[in-house]
Amino acid sequence: MRLLRNSWLLACLLCLAISAVGQTAPAPTVVRYEPCCGLLEGDVVALRRITYSDGSQKWLTVNTSTLATAIVPVSGRMPSGRDDDLVLPDGGSNYFILMDEVARDYPRYRHGVSSYNGAGYMLTCDLCPSSKGLDRDFIEMLADKGVSPVYISVSGKWMERHAADLQWLLSLKTPRIVWVNHSLTHYYKPGALDSVNFLNRPGTDLQREILGNERLMVEKGLTPSIFFRYPGLISSPAVARAVLDCGLIPLGADAWLAKGERPDKPGSIILVHINGNEPLGLKLFREWLPTTKMTAEEFKR
Ligand SMILES: [Zn+2]
Repeated sequence: MRLLRNSWLLACLLCLAISAVGQTAPAPTVVRYEPCCGLLEGDVVALRRITYSDGSQKWLTVNTSTLATAIVPVSGRMPSGRDDDLVLPDGGSNYFILMDEVARDYPRYRHGVSSYNGAGYMLTCDLCPSSKGLDRDFIEMLADKGVSPVYISVSGKWMERHAADLQWLLSLKTPRIVWVNHSLTHYYKPGALDSVNFLNRPGTDLQREILGNERLMVEKGLTPSIFFRYPGLISSPAVARAVLDCGLIPLGADAWLAKGERPDKPGSIILVHINGNEPLGLKLFREWLPTTKMTAEEFKR
């Protein structure tokens, strides 16, 4: 009897121990998401300060030579303000040269940077809001064929509606995904003039569209890159200014496959949609891939 009681006690203790291990504290949520700017060390600049519900803070940083971004715990000197006190390393770097070039020549970059200095191609896949599921078989095909990295432009509305598809993308080991901000609501009215459509819709809160989506990306576990893709590739000087002021570089494309454009020279930026709404673009990419010796590359300047 005593043995039985002890076994029962042991079982209860074991259950308690197991449930204590299972009860992990909820992950802290983002309570503040602020632009900041300051040189941290070497070529690394802090672009955002992220404050979590447990009081901890992280930076979203960019390596101004490689353009790689990272989310890292705050340490050392706290950069403050915008870019007023920023000292450019060696008088400039990839990131600043690119920002400057895009800022100076709006007509040329009105759709964003649409090619890059490389021998291969860049594959960009857009996730505009959609009622259809992610084209998972296309991503699996890319993994099979070794097409990596893949730039995925994600809108807030897509993330909110496709939690399982987003988790699936986050769980992939290949291809490597570079996440591109594609605006929060991605307004689009079929047939409306470009001058009042997409981010040019009168009354659009550009800060919310840009930083609000970036914050959502961070909350969902994504590391945003320094690229922003205009919905519909449509902008205006004011939209371009807002994107650049947020420290982001508009990413265009010169080979929107479903629109008949072709990646016929090295350094092309290919655009397809993987939100279920553009099977033609995916079919054309599948047909083109075996015909080229070029490989997918990261953006280079
Ligand atoms: Zn889009």
